[in-house]
Amino acid sequence: MARELVDATTCDWHAALPDAGRPISAPSQRTLENGKEVDLCDSCAWAFDFYYPRRQEVLPLLQPAVLDAFYRSARGTDTARRFPDQLPIPTTEQPAPASTPKAAPKAPASTRAKRHLGVWKDDVVQVRCPLPHQRGTTRKYWVDLRNRTGHARGHRKGDGTSYAGPDIAFELPPGEKFTHFCTEHQVCAENGGYGFLTADSLTAHLHKSKDWPTATKEARDAAETRLQAPAA
Ligand SMILES: [Zn+2]
Ligand SMILES: [Zn+2]
Ligand SMILES: [Zn+2]
Repeated sequence: MARELVDATTCDWHAALPDAGRPISAPSQRTLENGKEVDLCDSCAWAFDFYYPRRQEVLPLLQPAVLDAFYRSARGTDTARRFPDQLPIPTTEQPAPASTPKAAPKAPASTRAKRHLGVWKDDVVQVRCPLPHQRGTTRKYWVDLRNRTGHARGHRKGDGTSYAGPDIAFELPPGEKFTHFCTEHQVCAENGGYGFLTADSLTAHLHKSKDWPTATKEARDAAETRLQAPAA
């Protein structure tokens, strides 16, 4: 298009940007998969040579939600802490080859939303859910601690029944430990005690879970004994 409207040697890729500035001279030509030619400036020619053949792998990596999860997964240095939970990731589209008829398929909105599930947040206490999750979610799956019981209900056992929170061995981030444990309920006792970080959280659990079956004496004693045993 640039060929006809402006000049035979302006960069077609730069011209396709939503806020394309003045035309940039394009000493290079490249051929798209459909056999059509484009004129490119030096930097776009470099980007084209590297990214165009690999765009099916590269474009998914650059989706804002993926970058968001990727930044959050960075290991715990102080640098990582600089990314607050709601850091707006720039949403400008990368300069996809606009003249390419077959753009990389965009993930449907539902899949994009799913990518936000399970991501690490710096400002909320979270636990890792060790069970498998749907495809399209991040591999290490973090759940807000206060939502873990509800999250557990969404997991189905082999027999189709839901998990209870204590059935799942939720893990706190490294270095953090539960300090208060419920052994009042059968399911809590059977799993060695349902862990909490504060006495208040434990009390809240006791209030919220009044309809959970009470632990047998044996189950409770066994859990208490295990909890009091010095860590191996
Ligand atoms: Zn260019
Ligand atoms: Zn889960
Ligand atoms: Zn309990």
